[in-house]
Amino acid sequence: MRTAQQYKESLRRMRPNIYKFGELITDVTTHPATKRTVEGHAQIFEASLDPKYQDILTTTSPLTNTRVSRYLSIIQSPQDMIANLQMKRLMFNLTGTCTGGRCAGFNALNAMWAATYDIDHAKKTDYHQRLRAWLKDAQTQDITLSGALTDAKGDRSKSPSQQADPDLSLHIVKESEKGIVVRGAKVMICGVAAANELFIMPGSGYKELDKAYAVSFAIPRDIDGLTVIEARHPSDTRELEDGFDNPVTIGGITQAYLLFDDVFVPRDRVFLCGEYDFTTQAVMNFIAPYRAAIGGCVAGQGDVMVGAAALMARANGLSEKVFREKLTQMVMNNETTFGMGVAAGVLGSAHPSGVWIPSQLISNINKVHVATLPYETKRLAQEIAGGIAETGCLPSCKDLDDPKYGDLLKKYLAANCSGETRAKIARLIEWLTIGSGVPGCMHGGGSPDGAKLVINASTDFEHLMDLAKRLADIKENIRVEQKK
Ligand SMILES: Cc1cc2nc3c(=O)[nH]c(=O)nc-3n(C[C@H](O)[C@H](O)[C@H](O)COP(=O)(O)OP(=O)(O)OC[C@H]3O[C@@H](n4cnc5c(N)ncnc54)[C@H](O)[C@@H]3O)c2cc1C
Repeated sequence: MRTAQQYKESLRRMRPNIYKFGELITDVTTHPATKRTVEGHAQIFEASLDPKYQDILTTTSPLTNTRVSRYLSIIQSPQDMIANLQMKRLMFNLTGTCTGGRCAGFNALNAMWAATYDIDHAKKTDYHQRLRAWLKDAQTQDITLSGALTDAKGDRSKSPSQQADPDLSLHIVKESEKGIVVRGAKVMICGVAAANELFIMPGSGYKELDKAYAVSFAIPRDIDGLTVIEARHPSDTRELEDGFDNPVTIGGITQAYLLFDDVFVPRDRVFLCGEYDFTTQAVMNFIAPYRAAIGGCVAGQGDVMVGAAALMARANGLSEKVFREKLTQMVMNNETTFGMGVAAGVLGSAHPSGVWIPSQLISNINKVHVATLPYETKRLAQEIAGGIAETGCLPSCKDLDDPKYGDLLKKYLAANCSGETRAKIARLIEWLTIGSGVPGCMHGGGSPDGAKLVINASTDFEHLMDLAKRLADIKENIRVEQKK
């Protein structure tokens, strides 16, 4: 497995194709807009080689018979799902934020592992063999893999082929024996600047008219024809400040747009090419592990929020007992999403390809909790911390270190500890609650309303009514006329 240094060197060797504020980023490992997300992802490599974390972050691959990154593994059992949740919680504990340049890729490759197996059985294709060969190579090279469920989607009430502009969803524009050419875009993908490769799969179930949109493949991030635009962030200016209150141990997360301008993908990297009738299943295969494991992510960040809020209480001269109820609520929120994720994993089932698929019902309920509870945890952290942790309320590090008035600022920031320490805690809480530390709780992994559709479809209301009827001794058949 690679060291953090080898990982960063691999990024430096890539063709620069990432822009921000109109500027081409020539080295993602040092540019202020991307170095934090790279540092956060580099911590995965460091921790993977640490015996303390090895069982969580690595596993033995049946393809290589060696230990590989769990982010490049096939989830084969409930234990693997639990380790997946623990891994995500651990990485939030270590970096304070999302190392999202890995998890969507990890889930996409698992989703397509099962989908390609099913397609090959039904249509005598060889997608699964291609995916196996690609994955073996990816594990051997120990790459960082981002994932994109493609969009941009356009008018949400229309399918890809019904859009006025056919490019509004990523699609195949040319096909030959050697491979395919694709055009379109992906908006909002995590951590691309930290990735070596991207795994692309459909973002929705498609019908026959949308055949050209049923496509999945893996490509190097710097492939010809692909341009990446980093999104701006409200906390950009603070992120760009280096200083004692902004150590690089705190990772960084970036979101980017991918512009595919007739990108050629060689055939051995194509895992779906027109089989629209398997797209719904592929997306469902993605949703289940992703929406279960995201409970580990937000719990991991919540852990840091509990710690930082309690620290600020002490820094202000107050025992954390003053805030016992709030802190307890924060812990309950964390364990709710983590516990739901574990339950979804345990109550899953094995797909014939060997992939373990968590319970759709519980994973999707977890997605709704993930889109709700962390916001309360953030509110409580801010409430405990006081105004100093809200945005715009802490002078910049440059001012805190200014020879003319820096000492005065620190003097008046001091409470039950030095002003410098209080500034560090405030900065961390600001980061966790309103800064770039905020993971995609609401829409990452799909919208909560989308999850509610799955919850509704997975629930047998007739059965639940039968339970009630039996207990109330009702024999009468009660029906309502379906309205148009
Ligand atoms: C921080 C962050 C990180 C992300 N990282 C990744 C990543 O790494 N990889 C990746 O693939 N994606 C990523 N995404 C994208 C994410 O998957 C999408 O944001 C998500 O699927 C929701 O899609 P949308 O943003 O286009 O919202 P929309 O689809 O526009 O939804 C907006 C609202 O409209 C509702 N809605 C949409 N369509 C309909 C309809 N037809 N009928 C009724 N209601 C509808 C939705 O339920 C939602 O409430 C990320 C998003 C965020 C915010």
